[in-house]
Amino acid sequence: MTSHASTAADPVALCARPGADLPAAVHTVHRALVSDGRVGVDEGPTVARRLVRLAERYGNHPFTPLEEARRMLDVDRASFGRLLGLFGRVPELRHAVENGPAGKYWQNTLLPLERRGVFDAALAHKPAFPYVVGLYPGPSCMFRCHFCVRVTGARYDPSALESGNAMFASVIDEIPAGNPYAMYFSGGLEPLTNPGLGALSSRAAARGLRPTVYTNSFALTERTLDRQPGVWDLHAVRTSLYGLNDEEYEETTGKRAAFGRVRANLRRFQQLRSERESPIRLGLSYIVLPGRVHRLLDLVDFIADLNEAAPDRPVDFLNVREDYSGREDGRLFEAERAELQEGLLAFEEAVSRRTPTLNIDYGYALHSLKTGADAELLRIRPGTMRRSAHPQVSVQVDLLGDVYLYREAGFPDLTGADRYVAGRVGPGTSLTEVVERFVDDGRLIAPHAGDEYFMDGFDQVVAARLNQLEADVVAGWEDARGFLR
Ligand code: SF4
Repeated sequence: MTSHASTAADPVALCARPGADLPAAVHTVHRALVSDGRVGVDEGPTVARRLVRLAERYGNHPFTPLEEARRMLDVDRASFGRLLGLFGRVPELRHAVENGPAGKYWQNTLLPLERRGVFDAALAHKPAFPYVVGLYPGPSCMFRCHFCVRVTGARYDPSALESGNAMFASVIDEIPAGNPYAMYFSGGLEPLTNPGLGALSSRAAARGLRPTVYTNSFALTERTLDRQPGVWDLHAVRTSLYGLNDEEYEETTGKRAAFGRVRANLRRFQQLRSERESPIRLGLSYIVLPGRVHRLLDLVDFIADLNEAAPDRPVDFLNVREDYSGREDGRLFEAERAELQEGLLAFEEAVSRRTPTLNIDYGYALHSLKTGADAELLRIRPGTMRRSAHPQVSVQVDLLGDVYLYREAGFPDLTGADRYVAGRVGPGTSLTEVVERFVDDGRLIAPHAGDEYFMDGFDQVVAARLNQLEADVVAGWEDARGFLR
């Protein structure tokens, strides 16, 4: 059992999925445990059933504290400890968790951060250089998206650009070697409104970093690229789409004829990167609104059209997310779920026909939905926000050098966001020092109602994981904390 590789047909590897053949999975685990003598024949079926239930639990609900799992199985601590040990001896069970409906949490975030010991530093309240640093270089934004948390019209004074870009350069120089994805450009406001973005990108690339810029691409014109050739040194340009025609764009961003311009920019970008044989990647992100899943087919048309501009360099990736935010508890109605599932199938069929090389990331919730399960929805509230935040995991730095603890807090003049500034990077103060001071001084931030909106999806995952790990340690399960590592 421990030696043979999992196959798609392996009932154990699939046991966390809806509709899994649980008796077959239990039988297979039982046989394996008994055959290598770890478990007696009599207790075998019970132990195997419990192990499969653990895989099911953590493949669907990764943030379950161990004590809760123990109570679910109704076993004493000694038996539970033994079960945890046995679980680790059956790789197919681990595979089932990592590939279960909530597998994206494990694969994309939890396990990579575990491997680098990032959670350990946060749990121990030890300073560590943030695993990921977001630089928010944009002094302004040409759009006024109705959902954007930024105060309408808020911007940074252009006089902040020079010192701000020098400060960003110093932060880039501070980033430790070893993690090429340790830094990205985003906002806050629109990164391409900073005329120094290209120079910063080149500096980052020269240090072996592979930054992505998150942009609306309204300013991604040939002129910008001529003036800022360093933009070509980015690893990827990820464009947030706000619609698929001018009307939709205007409704969302308040800007007329914006879609046409973004499309023209992206088409030209496609041609230029093909001519230059630039390795830079081009991707899009798109949010599916409830009831509008059919628009995904128009999105395929849009991408196919961009691909025609450079048939040898098709668009590389697409991030699709859903927006449940209008729902009371974040859950979709049954009819919406069915519609979304059908829509995703039709979308995948169209993609495989027209844009077959497109790499699609569905994120946590849509990935679960595609497997037929209800997504584990994270609901971090002020009561479960961590007063010490998690600067060892990630921080965001704006043009003034302010170090924000959460990704949606880094907008100028955003009410209450200043409480989430850990300190300021500037001449004489490095990012390392800001984080060290924040952590060593034991600074705690008491959350106010609504502060959870300063956190994005990533921040929520990190907070949920740290809360879970802390609960495991407090309950005496330090060695097994977090279930998988
Ligand atoms: S969401 Fe982005 S593009 Fe829209 S107004 Fe806010 S910063 Fe600008």
